[in-house]
Amino acid sequence: MKKFKFIIALLSISFLTVQCTQEESNLTNDNAPTGVSSPSILEVNNAECYTVDGFGPNSYWAEYIVNQSTTNFLKTQHSNAANFFGMGNVPLYLAGGNGTFNALSYPNGYVVWGEELLASASNYGNAAIAYVAAHEMAHQVQFRDYTIPSSNHVSATELEADGFGGYFIRKKYTSNWNTAASAYSFSQTLAGPIGSSHGSAAQRRSAYRLGYLLGDNGTYSNRSFDNNFFYYYDYYVVGGRLKSELKKPASMEQSQHETIVAHLEELHKIYTGEISENEFLNLN
Ligand SMILES: [Zn+2]
Repeated sequence: MKKFKFIIALLSISFLTVQCTQEESNLTNDNAPTGVSSPSILEVNNAECYTVDGFGPNSYWAEYIVNQSTTNFLKTQHSNAANFFGMGNVPLYLAGGNGTFNALSYPNGYVVWGEELLASASNYGNAAIAYVAAHEMAHQVQFRDYTIPSSNHVSATELEADGFGGYFIRKKYTSNWNTAASAYSFSQTLAGPIGSSHGSAAQRRSAYRLGYLLGDNGTYSNRSFDNNFFYYYDYYVVGGRLKSELKKPASMEQSQHETIVAHLEELHKIYTGEISENEFLNLN
């Protein structure tokens, strides 16, 4: 009887060992977030930027998506944005296959891109990929600093991410507005109605343009970008108040402030839709 118990114990130990080994092999997959065997089981409730209910049941973790060179371009823009915003290492995971029209930024520090979203963005050109990479990285900025966004506008999180995206594009990608604006055309296809988490297409265009203009002759910490962005956005872009009422924010140089002031009427008209999408694309 004693011997029988001993054999049972031995069998249990070897069974446990096999289980542990299998789990470890899942956990050491560089292509996947720790312990997440498939993109379809990712929680989407606490992530920013999901456009569907989650990744499809047949999606899978991939080494590259769309093709190797498009993936390499995405990875470069992702790490450029991480460096630019001072984020350090932000893992990027790739979900391949059907049901992947999605890009998500997670509060536990990583970003997931889906193949269908990347394919669609690349149809709008490389600048569109760079822009979405910066937008997702902006959510990491927000996750890691709870004072950002400082506004309680209903769409503050997304509009600010658009603003950070415009700022990144101006500083790191192009000083040609037409290139920058066409990059943005892709993103606004994901816009919702006014009051939705992503903001309306016109709201998003104005946020993107403001971020771009803030980058025109200024460089800011994440926090001062946040302060200045909402200073102009909440009170003047949304409200369209007269230029003469404007005071310069403390952290802005006079010339930077004047650049924004010179564009406030335009920004307000973008916001209201008075400046159409087409006119937006052809601004200077
Ligand atoms: Zn977003």
